[in-house]
Amino acid sequence: MHNRDAVFLEDLCPKLRVRRWRQSLHTYTGKSCIYCGKPSESIDHVLPRSRGGLSVTENCVPACLSCNGHKSDADAFDWYRRQRFYDPRRAMAIRAWMDGDLRLALRLLQWAQPDLDTAQVADLENRNADDDLHSGGWQLQQA
Ligand SMILES: [Zn+2]
Repeated sequence: MHNRDAVFLEDLCPKLRVRRWRQSLHTYTGKSCIYCGKPSESIDHVLPRSRGGLSVTENCVPACLSCNGHKSDADAFDWYRRQRFYDPRRAMAIRAWMDGDLRLALRLLQWAQPDLDTAQVADLENRNADDDLHSGGWQLQQA
């Protein structure tokens, strides 16, 4: 993700990096569970670690303790479809999140949860716009 600014700090203090990273995940969803929308109190591995799921942003989503605990080692999408609070827009958001498209994921979450803190989405879009600018400039220099 867009953590290039923090690289040096992270190298100095891996614990800080993990904490900042976990906090940033919660911030993206307005501190709400990606499955049910309740306050997120934990980070859930969509593909469980027991099945080789990695601790990377694409596989880690904010989840409430209830969802995290109930899902356990089940397939996330199988489990999710069986829940009363199942929302196809959230399922799509999780797919987008796993594809690394956080912008799309947050748009879908906002659709499912209109009171989601939009400031975070705007912030993410601004950062992506900056990245586009930088990469464009870099290509220009190369040419
Ligand atoms: Zn939940």
